[in-house]
Amino acid sequence: MKLRSVRGTHDLYGHDINKYNRIYNIVSKHALLNNFIELQTPIFEFTDLFSKPLGDQSDVVLKEMYTFKDRNEDLLTLRPEYTTPMIRAAITNNLLEELPLKIYGLGPMFRRERPQKGRYRQFNQINFEVFGSSDFIIDLELISLANEILNSIIPSDKYTLNINSLGDYKNLKNYKESLSKYFNQNKTKLSIESKIKIDKNPIRILDSKNDDDIMVSKNAPKIYEFLSDECKIHYENIKKGLELYNIDYAENSNLVRGLDYYCSTVFEFKTKDLGSQDTLIGGGRYDGLIGSLGGPNIPGIGWAAGVERISMLMEEINVDEPRIHIAISDEKFKNHLIKIINYFRKNEIIFFWNYKYNLKKSLSKANFKNADFVVIIGENEFNNNFYTLKQLSTGNQFELDIDNIKKFLNDKF
Ligand code: AMP
Repeated sequence: MKLRSVRGTHDLYGHDINKYNRIYNIVSKHALLNNFIELQTPIFEFTDLFSKPLGDQSDVVLKEMYTFKDRNEDLLTLRPEYTTPMIRAAITNNLLEELPLKIYGLGPMFRRERPQKGRYRQFNQINFEVFGSSDFIIDLELISLANEILNSIIPSDKYTLNINSLGDYKNLKNYKESLSKYFNQNKTKLSIESKIKIDKNPIRILDSKNDDDIMVSKNAPKIYEFLSDECKIHYENIKKGLELYNIDYAENSNLVRGLDYYCSTVFEFKTKDLGSQDTLIGGGRYDGLIGSLGGPNIPGIGWAAGVERISMLMEEINVDEPRIHIAISDEKFKNHLIKIINYFRKNEIIFFWNYKYNLKKSLSKANFKNADFVVIIGENEFNNNFYTLKQLSTGNQFELDIDNIKKFLNDKF
């Protein structure tokens, strides 16, 4: 059998894992600063949790979910997104008593999409969600937090914020009806894919990347004509708030997001540097979702960031090499070696040893890696219970008792 990884999955190591760790550290720091609590959910849930709320006509539900039967016939799905599991967890763990609930999580998602640059079948998302407030201040807090996090990771000229309002569910229903009517009148000009969506999911035609669809969409009815006064005010407040936060944005009336549960404010951070998979972060309001999943009838809003896509825009990150090496001349002195290894570990001193009992090889490795000091263990050191520290830049050697090594190194660095 030839070993291979599953299509659309990838292993993480080297620069990639360094970037991931950097992203996760930055996210955790911002979460803490902004009072978001971490919530990790299992990677699989009952299929029902996803199929209805995401929309039976959404691409995710139609063709992308990894669904399987458990041995006792339960239908389970690897989570394709994080919002519904977060809501499930908030309800089942009684976390909705004090509102708003501000939570975040990070981890792998699974979608059986056609793999390409920036699109994988297992990918990692960062999610921030707020349950229980419809105040536009919360929309702004989340959008500006996404901006802040992105900006701490990649230069701000690499991405732009797009915003739109989808109105409430009633506005959206009227809008969809009007869109279906318009697209039916222009059916012959649409792509085959979009023709299928006319009656069941017409708003998805608006974000089609097909040139013919784009032409037809240009003259389609606009959502703004359907917004209630309340939704208009909410949206105006978002725009004014973004100016106060000093965040540039573009209004994009074709920004509709892929899943059925969205309403009101929707937004995406997009980049021009990744080809067609250009959305780094996507989010929006889902004011009816928590109630429809069996929770209280409270509003919600959140966003999801794609870790792979963000990391593709980052510079490579080198992790510092150990500055202290160990070189031992013979296996006979192993006990002396164990003592220094234990000492280094307890004192949190990072070191490297090449697992060879050969002074020459270990010293040449240390030279090659540009180490600062080599701890030498030979017969003299073993018999007289001390360690020789050789400074590679000068060739100077220092004979030290083990207890003095930490102070010695601290003084040198
Ligand atoms: P979505 O839940 O589709 O709005 O996705 C949110 C973010 O997750 C996107 O903006 C992407 O950055 C990322 N993402 C979604 N699907 C994939 C995928 N198949 N591969 C890699 N990243 C993805």
